[in-house]
Amino acid sequence: MKTLGVYIHIPFCVRKCVYCDFLSAPAAEETQKKYVAALKREIEQNAPFYRDYTVETIFFGGGTPSILKAERIKGILNVLKVHYNIAKTAEITLEANPKTTDYEKLCALKIAGINRLSIGLQSADDRELKILGRIHTYKDFLQTYGDARAAGFGNINVDLISALPSQTLESWINTLEKAVSLTPPPEHISAYSLIVEEGTPLYEHLEQFPPIPDEETERQMYYETKRILERHGYERYEISNYAKQGCESRHNRIYWQRGISHTHDYVGFGLGASSTVGNSRWKNTSDMSSYLNGANIKEDQQTLSENDLMEEFVFLGLRMTAGISAAEFHRTFQKNIEDIYREPIEKWTSQGLLARDGDIIRLTDKGLDFSNTVFADFIL
Ligand code: SF4
Repeated sequence: MKTLGVYIHIPFCVRKCVYCDFLSAPAAEETQKKYVAALKREIEQNAPFYRDYTVETIFFGGGTPSILKAERIKGILNVLKVHYNIAKTAEITLEANPKTTDYEKLCALKIAGINRLSIGLQSADDRELKILGRIHTYKDFLQTYGDARAAGFGNINVDLISALPSQTLESWINTLEKAVSLTPPPEHISAYSLIVEEGTPLYEHLEQFPPIPDEETERQMYYETKRILERHGYERYEISNYAKQGCESRHNRIYWQRGISHTHDYVGFGLGASSTVGNSRWKNTSDMSSYLNGANIKEDQQTLSENDLMEEFVFLGLRMTAGISAAEFHRTFQKNIEDIYREPIEKWTSQGLLARDGDIIRLTDKGLDFSNTVFADFIL
């Protein structure tokens, strides 16, 4: 049996945050109902393609999946359970935003089979949250976090973002300290740096927002993240992801390790969802009416060449602090990694951004800071 990670996109939010370029928008109850029906149909119709797979992880992402009624999430999970081989120990994650759930809903989600929550806090500073256009305060987050623990969730990720408009190093440290001081502390913390994406209100009207931290402050925030989280027992296992021992996101791992083992495939259902199965890659339509219609929703279908697969092996594998194995590269492609990538490996190893420990090639701490520069040299 091969391993499958299933991603389910829920493209609805209460309102749009100013920095958001995800495929999400507010939607009426009727649209949500039709969307869930279309989603179930897509999941069921595709089941025959995945008979040889065991689903190890399911991830409801968005958007704000927790905006859906619990019975709708349960309905989607039931279709998966009936038509796919779901591992008994599958990790089933739902992204939840404060103010879109309560204790009863979280209990219903837990009973439905969700066993991991990813809660979007982003900042513990109400002023920063307001500037971002988030719908919640820090107190709202605490309520959701407490409700989730009371409902029995024992595996929780908290999402944070640094380099926000008006954010200081002190306020970022305060956010980190508050996150690690939760009782009990979250099992997993994602800490990304804000990227001002073209087309977002933040990008279009940047001058109307308080300034974003300069490069030097952003770099200090980055170092403080690692220092504070490691001090509190979180291990960095990917550039922006930290976990208590044994609590790494298995869904993330399937995605990042796909490059390393092509028995890990990844299918996305829902509006705009991406899939990579074997050497095929495609994306679903981003147009809601086409998606609801259900005909020809797959777009951008491409067959990955060997070069694409080798690049993916390196890019995804090097994001993990564990690095990549030269022997595994050889097993996968029947080629020596040095014959393909001798130059960038020697260049970045001599500059201290890559390290070679026997069979393993990995980014050093400094390399993790400048990963994009290193990755650029691995494009074939
Ligand atoms: S809650 Fe998340 S997905 Fe929704 S608008 Fe805000 S950033 Fe985007």
